[in-house]
Amino acid sequence: LIIDNVRLYDGYDYKQSELNYHVTLEGGKIKAIGKGRTSEKGTHVADGKERVLVPAFHDSHLHFLRYGLMKRELDLRHVTSWEHMKEEVRSYYPEMEEGDWVVGRGLEDNAFTDRDSLLEAKDLDELHLHTYMFFLHEDGHECIVNHKVMDLLRKEEKFKDIPEDFKEKNDNGEWTGRFKDTAVHFIKHHFRSRSTQDAKDALVYGIPHLLKHGITTIHSDDLNFIGSYDRLWDAYTSLENEGNLPIRVYLHHYIFNKKNLEDYLANHSYRTGEGTERVKVGAVKIFLDGTQRLHTAAMRIPYQDKEETSGNAVYSQEQLNEILMLAGQNRMQVAMHAIGDRAVEQAITALEQPGARTDLLRHRIIHAQTVGQDLLSRLEKLNAVIETQPSFLLSEWDKKEKWVGKDLVPYCDAFKSFMSHSIPFTLSSDLPIGSLNPFEGVFAAVNRTDLEGKPTGGWQPQEKLTVDEAFRGYTSVPTLIELNENNNEGRLIKGERADLLLLDRHPLEIEKENIHQIKVVETWSSGKKVYDIHQH
Ligand SMILES: [Zn+2]
Repeated sequence: LIIDNVRLYDGYDYKQSELNYHVTLEGGKIKAIGKGRTSEKGTHVADGKERVLVPAFHDSHLHFLRYGLMKRELDLRHVTSWEHMKEEVRSYYPEMEEGDWVVGRGLEDNAFTDRDSLLEAKDLDELHLHTYMFFLHEDGHECIVNHKVMDLLRKEEKFKDIPEDFKEKNDNGEWTGRFKDTAVHFIKHHFRSRSTQDAKDALVYGIPHLLKHGITTIHSDDLNFIGSYDRLWDAYTSLENEGNLPIRVYLHHYIFNKKNLEDYLANHSYRTGEGTERVKVGAVKIFLDGTQRLHTAAMRIPYQDKEETSGNAVYSQEQLNEILMLAGQNRMQVAMHAIGDRAVEQAITALEQPGARTDLLRHRIIHAQTVGQDLLSRLEKLNAVIETQPSFLLSEWDKKEKWVGKDLVPYCDAFKSFMSHSIPFTLSSDLPIGSLNPFEGVFAAVNRTDLEGKPTGGWQPQEKLTVDEAFRGYTSVPTLIELNENNNEGRLIKGERADLLLLDRHPLEIEKENIHQIKVVETWSSGKKVYDIHQH
């Protein structure tokens, strides 16, 4: 097969956007890249119509199963009052049986017009009393549950291990029904188990959305939304066996403690990067802290707008070190959620242990939203990879200073600093929290404004990336963390897997402030066309 009459771009070579090429595919790979038009004719020649051929995207951090499941959950993002929320819950879940779960997401009760206090479990008593109720806040890091769920939690021995900071209490020391971060993961993990079929349905719903945005490889953290790694594995691999998995997947394994990792190692033979043709074991996922919005991200100095706290580290350094050593000895890559600079420092200290094998396993730090000069210098010497989510900047840039203070602002989402210290970093969506569209991530990294162009000139403009640099964060850099696939570089070169896109505009020709408007016209996975804009 020859894709003829295309222009090329991959963030490295092919700077001359006007040149024409033809690309020959064979056996799911790029066999040759030729200048000009092909002289061959026939049904094996496809006219690319001067579209721009680029490597397909990798989304290195998202929650894909959750995205698919969300269509069955009540979306509360448009709800602005408690009265409205009650109406929505009653009409979305009209007939509920004892033991059913009411699940809502996107809640922003801090902005409700008819309340001046946040919702608590006792308020939920005004709704279906006989069901379990779970409402997730807009940012995914805080939830509100009803008394029936709290009764379950009290019986759970392991819930006692979750730090008390994550369980909100009233003046009498009783739980209010609001839980944060690690406690939220626990609740999701333990009580909301799903069948393999539920999961498959959700994935089948989600896949076309990935292809539409040109994403053919994902690293997904799903375990909390199904409750069993084996069921999760079965869901993806049975789609693969049925020929219905046109993407490649790395499945994170969430752990809370070292014991969880020991259990995985004892019961599973695959290590990171191993698996079937399209489904691989991904990284061990672990949360070191919370978020800045909730002041639970672990900072080295107190929050400017809440001076009594500097956030919460979930683990002691010793606990984390042990987990990294165990992972290093067993060829398991670790991906650590670390937002505050204290959590990032903890992660670095753990990664610096030779036994963690960061050199080989390319462990990952997710978010790293606040760093420091010392941390950049230490990261420079490691082989670790940072996973950034530039699209978060669209909604958070105006709040950063009141969280971290003036001195640390230059170290927030410091993408260019990662670049100049040769610290590899990916761009990713964190779907369903951030936008799935990679061009929105590129937009945010290149412009450092919201989509309306605010603030003028960009926030902390010295940290803007070039289009090339941002593009590589979705194409070539993620291949570094995809162990056992060293022959693939996420570039347009001979021998690469033919995971390719045709774009309607050239990323270097379009004005930077319009880069999010680039559309994927076709998506190809292993040499097969799996999406065509004209058929949708
Ligand atoms: Zn995430």
